[in-house]
Amino acid sequence: MSRVYNFSAGPAVLPEEVLQEAAEEMLDYNGTGMSVMEMSHRSKAYDDIIKTAEKDLRDLMDIPDNYKVLFLQGGASQQFAMIPMNLMKNKVADYIVTGQWAKKAYQEACKYGKVNKIATSEDKTFSYIPDCSDLPISEDADYVYICENNTIYGTKYKKLPNTKGKTLVADVSSCFLSEPVDVSKYGIIYGGVQKNIGPAGVVIVIIREDLITEDVLEGTPTMLQYKIHADANSLYNTPPAYGIYICGKVFKWIKKMGGLAAMKEHNEKKAKILYDFLDESNLFKGTVVKEDRSLMNVPFITGDEQLDAKFVKEAKEAGFENLKGHRTVGGMRASIYNAMPIEGVEKLVEFMKKFEKENA
Ligand SMILES: *Cc1c(COP(=O)(O)O)cnc(C)c1O
Repeated sequence: MSRVYNFSAGPAVLPEEVLQEAAEEMLDYNGTGMSVMEMSHRSKAYDDIIKTAEKDLRDLMDIPDNYKVLFLQGGASQQFAMIPMNLMKNKVADYIVTGQWAKKAYQEACKYGKVNKIATSEDKTFSYIPDCSDLPISEDADYVYICENNTIYGTKYKKLPNTKGKTLVADVSSCFLSEPVDVSKYGIIYGGVQKNIGPAGVVIVIIREDLITEDVLEGTPTMLQYKIHADANSLYNTPPAYGIYICGKVFKWIKKMGGLAAMKEHNEKKAKILYDFLDESNLFKGTVVKEDRSLMNVPFITGDEQLDAKFVKEAKEAGFENLKGHRTVGGMRASIYNAMPIEGVEKLVEFMKKFEKENA
């Protein structure tokens, strides 16, 4: 068996021991004589899996009792519609557009009401986070929306926006469980799990209870109502059962690693190795303003497209996979999520140094 260092932005690297455990349990989960993929989502065994997963996530994030945890389907993208459909009581929302995912969410919300783009960093190809300390928050806004870590551009909010009392909704797909968060500052925190937690197909929505109501936009499908899923504890219909089981294993892994504070320390250490090198390199440079750099997604360029392509190709041959930047920005991007070991980043930097020498 030979495993590569996988720098994919998503679906992305998972902890090896989680994959091993899942492999061991594949044919016979815990004496049930069947795989988790084959069991009823109403069975006792599965009930334990989903309840334990929720409990471990609550412990990790210290989720207050007045928040529900929902395991849903449709990816992060489905939330782009589900959020306005459920939250737009006044049919007004404010969006801060800091990248492609925030822009997609903004465009989707525009179908349902009056949506204000109150700040954007599009003028400089989303290479920074705008100052959000005193934005023109709408008087009647139902919520203020952000994408907290911009997977494609590699920026992260280091400070949450001042929403002037309005409900904050955040897409944390690519920074989920990468550091401690204060859940009480948000109305909704949600993310697709395939970046930092588990297999694609699961989206986790952490939502304050007062936002879960029957008062949704007319025509909202049953499956897109938070209340339906909250009342049924994420078992209204068949959930993405196997995916949730893997998420549960990753929660246990993070707990074993010391929780979110330890994750943050580990992630800062890893990111520093790469950013320090980018800052001193004569060939490679980061594309994001320093103070807004993401710990998870690190885009960089040489400034020469052909050299970028050569780097990506030679890196792949050396066992560093998926370093090509997003198709809309080019260059390179190293995604260094929780499960990327520190050696992966150290070895990547070694390889970059060698490439720099050879191509000076
Ligand atoms: C990947 C990603 C999405 C899209 O996720 P899907 O599960 O594919 O819909 C949305 N937001 C962010 C921040 C992402 O990184």
